[in-house]
Amino acid sequence: MTRVLIVHAHPEPQSFTTSLQNAAAEELRKQSHEVVVTDLYALGFNPVASSEDFSDRRNPDYLTYALEQRHAYGNGTLAPDVKPHVDLVLWAELVIFTFPIFWFSTPAILKGWIDRVLLSGPFYGGLRFYDKGGMRGKKAWVVATLGGQPHMFGAESVHGDLSGLLSHFLRGTLGYVGFDVLKPFFAYHVPYITQDQRVELLESFRQELRSLNTRPTMDFPSLSDFSEKLYPLTREGASSAHIAQERTETLKEQNRNGDERLVLLDGMVGATIALSHNEMKDFYRGGGLVASIGLVFSLFVLWLYL
Ligand SMILES: Cc1cc2nc3c(=O)[nH]c(=O)nc-3n(C[C@H](O)[C@H](O)[C@H](O)COP(=O)(O)OP(=O)(O)OC[C@H]3O[C@@H](n4cnc5c(N)ncnc54)[C@H](O)[C@@H]3O)c2cc1C
Repeated sequence: MTRVLIVHAHPEPQSFTTSLQNAAAEELRKQSHEVVVTDLYALGFNPVASSEDFSDRRNPDYLTYALEQRHAYGNGTLAPDVKPHVDLVLWAELVIFTFPIFWFSTPAILKGWIDRVLLSGPFYGGLRFYDKGGMRGKKAWVVATLGGQPHMFGAESVHGDLSGLLSHFLRGTLGYVGFDVLKPFFAYHVPYITQDQRVELLESFRQELRSLNTRPTMDFPSLSDFSEKLYPLTREGASSAHIAQERTETLKEQNRNGDERLVLLDGMVGATIALSHNEMKDFYRGGGLVASIGLVFSLFVLWLYL
């Protein structure tokens, strides 16, 4: 038995998308899975991420939304309309999203659910994303309807690849927080096909639900293929260019952090030489200045002699 959460976002309870959601709940319950449905429009879910989400601020003077999310989660002060959703996602082993495509994307109510519910902390944070994300080991499945027809989507097609258009959700959200993302189910041209075709479409969706546990997943990166600073690693290890770039970034970061490092870069080989202001002062204090003047004077005498 699998714990399944269906997050549904359609404003019309009799819509075809809602029929897909009902079919999913029914089929999965028939298979003895435990199913909970969250209907965002029916709940009147507030999709706006704002300072009102936090009653007990770690910094009352400046809102950094993700840091306040972490703080509220840790202190048990999550907004009362957010916490039950967080608990449900943490409870579920499979999360299904049913929605119509709006403007090549999710409806705003679902986008707001992502912003407010997939918190920094339990779901992601620091280097905890993709295969290190908080939802690793769990599955997510996108079931979406659209007005467009299949031939309009694809590498050479007028709108491009549909999974690519939705990559902000499939990869940038679900993959990012660590889900194994099942290949999406798309119902094309829904309002324009015949009633019989829609009945057929619904039946093909039920078939997909019967083989859900063998459904292939999408390929996303593994963090083990990237360095600590997220530069790609070659099979043998980090390439020299990436190592050099990473060193440069580290030095720049130290510079930003107040170390005042002077960074001299040889871009060809990526060699980096760095001297901080303090090191320069030590150099002069330690007799380097006298030695430098002596060297310049010697070169001048040599030039006169020649
Ligand atoms: C703001 C906005 C932006 C959009 N952007 C895009 C876009 O970028 N790309 C794109 O391709 N499309 C876009 N669309 C179109 C939209 O994606 C589709 O209209 C929508 O997905 C169709 O699904 P639906 O559930 O709303 O269908 P509905 O219109 O609700 O249903 C279609 C028909 O199916 C019937 N039906 C319901 N249940 C069943 C059942 N069980 N069996 C048989 N028939 C049934 C209904 O009665 C209705 O007659 C957009 C629409 C909007 C409003």
